[in-house]
Amino acid sequence: MVKLAQKSGASERVLLSIFKNVFKMHREGGFDGTTMGFSFTILGSGSGGNCAYLESSSVRLLIDAGFSGRQITERLKGIGRDVSQIDAILLTHEHADHIAGLKVLCQRHQIPLFCNRLTREALAVELPNFAGWKIFSTGETFTLGDLVIDSFSLPHDASDPVGFVIHAGPQTIAFITDLGYVTKLVLERVKGVTLMVLETNHDVNLLQNDTIRPWSVKQRILSRHGHLSNDAAADALPHLVSSSLERLYLAHLSRDCNNPALAHRTIQKKLDHLSASHIDVSVAEQHKPAPTVHW
Ligand SMILES: [Zn+2]
Ligand SMILES: [Zn+2]
Repeated sequence: MVKLAQKSGASERVLLSIFKNVFKMHREGGFDGTTMGFSFTILGSGSGGNCAYLESSSVRLLIDAGFSGRQITERLKGIGRDVSQIDAILLTHEHADHIAGLKVLCQRHQIPLFCNRLTREALAVELPNFAGWKIFSTGETFTLGDLVIDSFSLPHDASDPVGFVIHAGPQTIAFITDLGYVTKLVLERVKGVTLMVLETNHDVNLLQNDTIRPWSVKQRILSRHGHLSNDAAADALPHLVSSSLERLYLAHLSRDCNNPALAHRTIQKKLDHLSASHIDVSVAEQHKPAPTVHW
């Protein structure tokens, strides 16, 4: 069973850094149903919904649940997993594109939900009879089975939005989406991760020329508590890139004000400039899961 325990995480990190040199991610593809170790799949990402799946030998975890319960169930089925096997959901914040499936997953399936207190308060109406709240304090490190999870504050217009760094054996995965800009705290927390899910929400020109969104919405997206543009993500790369970083997922793309090729081009150009050819860049898609990574 999943256990929550408060930890400093320091001793685990020492151990994990030793493991880092021993293990390597070795293949991509679907699940074979007998996975030992760890697997990670972005089930979908974009301004229309966000959900990722992380599996260890002791925990099956969703990070956000921003598709309908049915969609999440189907996408899990697509990688050979059943929604009834999910041990917990880790929530970044309460916006609709991160919580759309919570009613079904939490109320019906009674899957425990890890979030901070203000996010819980914001969700009180959404989940009135739910008893599986697992509350952490922003900035805290806690364990979930064999995963060690760091939480940290992000600048975004929600109650108490957070990013995560999840230590999963030899790999560490950073989730940094839904942020208006890259803070010093973020840079400090994601130092040395091996996988990064990074927001490239919009192209500033496409957003400014967009004829659908009212001015106020554009201002919100562009603000310090809005979303990260392709250029802003690229500008942060000199501080985010390290020799440890193996894989970079570009995530949370706007449907109308960005496109995968443009986001990829902007980021790859910057990585080339930084001579960071060791980093594998891919764009997480809205409508289908990314290939599963095993290690
Ligand atoms: Zn948001
Ligand atoms: Zn979002």
